[in-house]
Amino acid sequence: MSIFSVVATPIGNLEDITLRALRVLREADLILCEDTRMTKRLLDRHDIHVATKSYHAHSTLSRSEEIVQLLRDGKKVALVSDAGTPGISDPGSELVRFIRADLAEEIATGVLKIESIPGPSALTAALSIAGVPCADFTFLGFLPHKKGRVTLFKEIAAAERTMVFYESPHRIMKTLESLNSVLQGESSAKHVTICRELTKMFEEVVKGSAELVSGYFKKNPDKIKGEFVVIVS
Ligand code: SAM
Repeated sequence: MSIFSVVATPIGNLEDITLRALRVLREADLILCEDTRMTKRLLDRHDIHVATKSYHAHSTLSRSEEIVQLLRDGKKVALVSDAGTPGISDPGSELVRFIRADLAEEIATGVLKIESIPGPSALTAALSIAGVPCADFTFLGFLPHKKGRVTLFKEIAAAERTMVFYESPHRIMKTLESLNSVLQGESSAKHVTICRELTKMFEEVVKGSAELVSGYFKKNPDKIKGEFVVIVS
């Protein structure tokens, strides 16, 4: 039986990897990585010496077909992304979709198994420490840069559920300013929580009104770096 394992890896702290993930990576014939150099650090740390190949947002159809052929040949292939759970706002989901469509019969007859090796994700890590209602929530991934952005901020302001999205350091101030303007007035009861650099040395959670949170980052420009999860609740 061939196996395609979708393996969650750390979002910062290299110790955040499950025993099962380590075993699956060690036993794989090939590890597909968003960035092979980045994954090499993790593999070296855990003394794993398995062939790697890149699979990223710009990978061609022929790379997907190559992977499908390996699975047809009975190989064990593992997929990891740069951080966290493959498919959550990274290219992994495209590949899984392709394999499920191309090898539907093999999956149905049990010749191929697609398995999840769960573990960290910035989404769940942030929600777990933000202290916000998260029995249900909406995850927006990365917000669009242009088209639909204004409408989306209005939806965030009007939402009854907790809203979560990913943001880059280059855009975080712009995003905080947009939240500040859209959360004035009626929606001012909303909290904004920024979870930055989760599991890393400078992990930080800043929570308060949009005004307070954007004011904090304006006063501390040295903290406008790293990786961010934004929560509006
Ligand atoms: N697949 C990943 C996951 O499961 O979390 C997310 C990949 S997405 C390309 C990368 C984004 O996730 C970053 O821009 C940031 O918004 C968020 N992120 C990843 N690691 C993070 C961390 N350690 N702290 C805060 N946010 C993080």
